[in-house]
Amino acid sequence: MTERLMMVGAGLSGAVLARQLAEAGHAITVVDARSHVAGNCHTARDPQTGVMVHVYGPHIFHTDDDRVWDYVQRFARFRSYKNQVKTTVAGQVYSLPVNLHTINQFFGRAMRPEEARAFVAARTADIPDPQTFEEQALAFVGPDLYAAFFKGYTEKQWGTSPANLPASILKRLPLRFTYDDNYFFHRHQGIPENGYTAMVAAILDHPGISVRLETVFDPSEAADWNHVFWSGPLDGFFNYRLGRLGYRTLDFETFRATGDWQGCAVMNHPGADVPFTRISEHKHFAPWESHAESVLYREYPRACGPDDIPYYPIRLAQEKSLLADYVALAKEAPNVTFVGRLGTYRYLDMDVTIREALDLAAAFLAARSTGTPA
Ligand code: FAD
Ligand code: UDP
Repeated sequence: MTERLMMVGAGLSGAVLARQLAEAGHAITVVDARSHVAGNCHTARDPQTGVMVHVYGPHIFHTDDDRVWDYVQRFARFRSYKNQVKTTVAGQVYSLPVNLHTINQFFGRAMRPEEARAFVAARTADIPDPQTFEEQALAFVGPDLYAAFFKGYTEKQWGTSPANLPASILKRLPLRFTYDDNYFFHRHQGIPENGYTAMVAAILDHPGISVRLETVFDPSEAADWNHVFWSGPLDGFFNYRLGRLGYRTLDFETFRATGDWQGCAVMNHPGADVPFTRISEHKHFAPWESHAESVLYREYPRACGPDDIPYYPIRLAQEKSLLADYVALAKEAPNVTFVGRLGTYRYLDMDVTIREALDLAAAFLAARSTGTPA
């Protein structure tokens, strides 16, 4: 008998999982509440300027995972892209992540790498096992660089003091004693030439997959399916019955300009003088294209309400305890697997999302072939 398999969400998690199951001979239905595939990675051409816009915020693909890198090459032509982020602090433009140029410019010096390393080390706090973002920053770059580049940005981004946030958030960023200003340290980095939505549509393009957009899946219908893969919010599946897991959402204020407005893709604004965190100029995410006009986003983070799009899981102590309760409920849901950024309530990059979907599909197929419940 053919199994009835449901994939809730047509983002990267949903597309990769569905593809793997379809290639193994299953038929699977994919639904998404939105009018497009690709979830938060969605890209679309701006009708006024023709620029490819990263609709839910800038997305750069970066990974050390060769299998994931090979996987995405099957569905899109990637153009090489180096993420070089700038930041404006007190009327000056600096280079990120904090590197030798940033340090020399900030302190008005011309230090060589080892001098700068010793100079920064003399200013950092001796905190053996930093637990919070603030402790991590003080141990990593010291108070001056922390105050200039991280404190204000993080307060705006997360709506709380960095003293309340986990150290792991800052550990995403490198500190370099060279002039290398590549924001990421992964071996592979790029952006699909025709955008992420075309790539996800290609992943979903398989005779075993049927996609239904603008379709909200109601969790009470889970029992109608042999198995449901859920990439929606974990607490949403349980109708928020224990309370809501906290998220930050983003408001994007769009504006357009002629020519090149800021000269780079992403300019951060950590200062308290402006309420936004960064400005993205989308045409710079596709430097292989040429556009006379420009479209930009100012990005304003705020607390996520019930009708907003959840972007960043907050994961403070109170959320962690609620999360544990929801994870316990999830384990009891017999024919449901929770996947992805929202389904597992984690800050997942695209490459990890794809790797986890590949691994989950393999585990599901292995369990089906041996008759054990997944
Ligand atoms: P999503 O993309 O959120 O997809 C889930 C889908 O499920 C959504 O389309 C939603 O509509 C649908 N859905 C939910 N509930 C239901 C329901 N009940 N019925 C029907 N449909 C439903 N990663 C990188 O690697 N590099 C970056 O530069 C990067 N930048 C980012 C910038 C921002 C601002 C954010 C927020 C994230 C960024 N990421 C980046 C992470 C990236 O967006 C995620 O890794 C990826 O989108 C996760 O895919 P997903 O399928 O798990 O979730
Ligand atoms: N961050 C900061 N200043 C910056 C950029 C980042 O303080 O100029 C902090 C902020 O708390 C952010 C974290 O570092 O949430 C991780 O940064 P990243 O650029 O990885 O954030 P994302 O791309 O996920 O928004």
